[in-house]
Amino acid sequence: MINTVFLFYINMDTQVDIERYEQILEELKPYDAQLIAVSKTKPVSSVLRLYAHGQRDFGENYVQEFVDKAAQCTHDIKWHFIGHLQTNKVKQIVSLTHLIHGIDSIKLLREVNKQSAKLNTVTPVLLQVHIAEEETKFGFTDDDIVSLFESEIISGLEHVHVRGLMGMATLTSDRQQIKKEFKGLFHLYEYCRKQLVRDKFDVLSMGMTADYSIALDCGSNMIRIGSALFGERVKAEEKDE
Ligand SMILES: *Cc1c(COP(=O)(O)O)cnc(C)c1O
Repeated sequence: MINTVFLFYINMDTQVDIERYEQILEELKPYDAQLIAVSKTKPVSSVLRLYAHGQRDFGENYVQEFVDKAAQCTHDIKWHFIGHLQTNKVKQIVSLTHLIHGIDSIKLLREVNKQSAKLNTVTPVLLQVHIAEEETKFGFTDDDIVSLFESEIISGLEHVHVRGLMGMATLTSDRQQIKKEFKGLFHLYEYCRKQLVRDKFDVLSMGMTADYSIALDCGSNMIRIGSALFGERVKAEEKDE
């Protein structure tokens, strides 16, 4: 599967909507939120076009593609790994990432801790919460998150720093549904931040091209935008790696 994606993105022309980029940055201002430009399946030339306009935070989903791109971009890019991460691939990405968004199991959290310990570093991560109706999406339940923080598990992992939460809403045109899911995640985030977490905990990553305005209104401070900036992607890559 991944080989198909790989060929596709190598053959793609650079396509970046700078006008839309600047418009989104304007929209973000009142919220004090950060934009992650999701460059999965898109060529390095597109990343560098946006870099030239000042963008520094980029998001990638697929390990091989990410490792390859990071090797080609020696610039001061902050890479966010936002895809579903398999435990056996953690080793390849820890030293390259600024923030890992999709931690969805304790096993994965432990592996990030282990690999980071080997590098004598602390890796910032977000815990992914399952807020959508679809079963295909990954993540912890609200109760999982609360009991994780109440237990000693996280504080015992000295080489990961849980900076916040991440979630994806149901793929639907029902804005009320999306709003309900984002609001729920915001409340969980606030509860963790105020009641449960002692370390710095300040990132709520929610909102993509189709729903980022709703996410911002619901308290998001980090949005992950791909197609609005780089154009539509092929369907095949939406699958898990
Ligand atoms: C692909 C992806 C995005 C960006 O999606 P767009 O709809 O293209 O903005 C954001 N977050 C995650 C987790 C993704 O996989």
